[in-house]
Amino acid sequence: TRTPLMAGNWKMNFDHLQSIAFVQKLAWTLKDGKHDFGAVEVAVFPPFTDLRSVQTLVDADKLKIAYGGQDLSPHESGAYTGDISGRFLSALGCRYVLVGHSERRTLHGETDEICRDKVAAAARSGLVPVLCVGETSEDLEAHGAAAVPVSQLRAALEGNDAVTELVIAYEPVWAIGSGEAATPEQAQTVCRALRETLAELRGDDMAGDTRLLYGGSVKASNVVGFMREPDIDGALIGGASLKIDEFSAIVRYRQ
Ligand code: 13P
Repeated sequence: TRTPLMAGNWKMNFDHLQSIAFVQKLAWTLKDGKHDFGAVEVAVFPPFTDLRSVQTLVDADKLKIAYGGQDLSPHESGAYTGDISGRFLSALGCRYVLVGHSERRTLHGETDEICRDKVAAAARSGLVPVLCVGETSEDLEAHGAAAVPVSQLRAALEGNDAVTELVIAYEPVWAIGSGEAATPEQAQTVCRALRETLAELRGDDMAGDTRLLYGGSVKASNVVGFMREPDIDGALIGGASLKIDEFSAIVRYRQ
């Protein structure tokens, strides 16, 4: 059985002071009421400059909130000005790291090959990569929904046999920040195709254990529909993860 994962991608929002305020509110709202921490895993992806502050809060109060970086360098260390090593992220207690978010792919030219190297770097550093895949509206028209996400998954795992644990986030590019989410049925179809691909590449056990998230205009009012689908194990949430009422309602979707 796969533990549902609700993950907030803060993107370039919240400085470290705002992140402290948000995590404090999140901790409070999760402990209040009857939320069962064990049943749903909660994670946040703050900007790099906030991670130390988040770590301090999580450690001090033993919060059951996981966190991770939004990106990492494919390299371990060296002359890579501005880049962040996976080792630095694990040293800060990160459990996860996003790889290949569509904003990295389009705004920073991250190719499938770069994403593959980043997945490898994450695993080397003891981080669980959250590989983001998804089609643009042009891809959707030309090839249908599943073709591009499946090929992105294949490319990211090629030669990466050392990667035994990952999370896959299916984020149709047209649904990100648009207010227009995929339907649960559309998302399920692609997630099923991704799981079948994983089974083909890595066997049924890993395919059965790997969590697949849907992302793209997820909010408190539509999350339950996605979570009813058999191959959707959580959500990667942008805009709604910045609003405490929305995000805590998403985390409590089972109540
Ligand atoms: P929105 O939830 O704002 O559509 O963003 C989704 C996303 O890109 C999460 O990584």
